[in-house]
Amino acid sequence: MTWLMITILIRTIVCAFPAAQAYKLVELTHSLSPSTLFWPGVPSFNRSLVVASVNQHGVWFEIGKFSVGEHGGTHIDVPRHFKQGAADLNDFPLDRTIAEGVMIDCSAEAAKNYNYAVTTNKLKEWEKKNGRIPDGAAVLVNFGYTAKFSNHQAFLNTKNVRDDKTFRFPFVTAQAALWLLNERKMKIIGVDVPSPDSPQDKSYPVHVALLLKNVMIMEMMNIPKSLPARGFRVHCAPIRIVDGTGVQTRIYAMMGDNIDAGSARLCMQSPVFFVASLVVASAVVDILTGGRIRG
Ligand SMILES: [Zn+2]
Repeated sequence: MTWLMITILIRTIVCAFPAAQAYKLVELTHSLSPSTLFWPGVPSFNRSLVVASVNQHGVWFEIGKFSVGEHGGTHIDVPRHFKQGAADLNDFPLDRTIAEGVMIDCSAEAAKNYNYAVTTNKLKEWEKKNGRIPDGAAVLVNFGYTAKFSNHQAFLNTKNVRDDKTFRFPFVTAQAALWLLNERKMKIIGVDVPSPDSPQDKSYPVHVALLLKNVMIMEMMNIPKSLPARGFRVHCAPIRIVDGTGVQTRIYAMMGDNIDAGSARLCMQSPVFFVASLVVASAVVDILTGGRIRG
């Protein structure tokens, strides 16, 4: 039985090892406060204390309350936003809140032109350099606007942040959005500007086309310069507000954990791995005992 016990020991050690492998989390969310940018007409974030005191047992006890418009700061949109009766935050499928990520860097183009529009050609150029956008991906479009987020005038390219007719920022063309939807089965689109649509186009072609196909839209994201073009997964978990059309959500990227998941599956499922462990254990016992222990 000794070699069997060593087999189990080896399997335990090898299976535990992947969990110790380094993985990395990347913040993709701006913090939310009363100074966070909201579109004119959408109530901004407001929080106050309900209780903040030491109770009769000497324990600190604090509760706040907040109110906030659904679309402001880093947030997501679900279909109800653009179609009456469509999926709300309560119904939106959980499996559409997590996806392999790619980052399309448009920061150089957007720095030169605040009306820059992402075309299908730009996406095809990206693929030539970085490989095919995987089916069902979260496509993050980085316009380099993350650093401008706290400066509302710079973020919206206007002197009047109360008049949305004056707003200008880069966007995604309907043609590019439809290509991602139809040719790459995109699950999520994210931008570091207020909307993937042009602020001048009130027919919202990108919102309408994507939301009606259950593509989640992430807006005003915090996309750091260090985020690679691919090799990460996008996570977010919006709360299930009944009838909700969108909500502020913690969004983050996770990278470096794929090997862990693969190794864990190998440990749990592979009979070949089990037999290999037996052979290795047997050899180790032979070496350690000079062949004195068998069975
Ligand atoms: Zn929104």
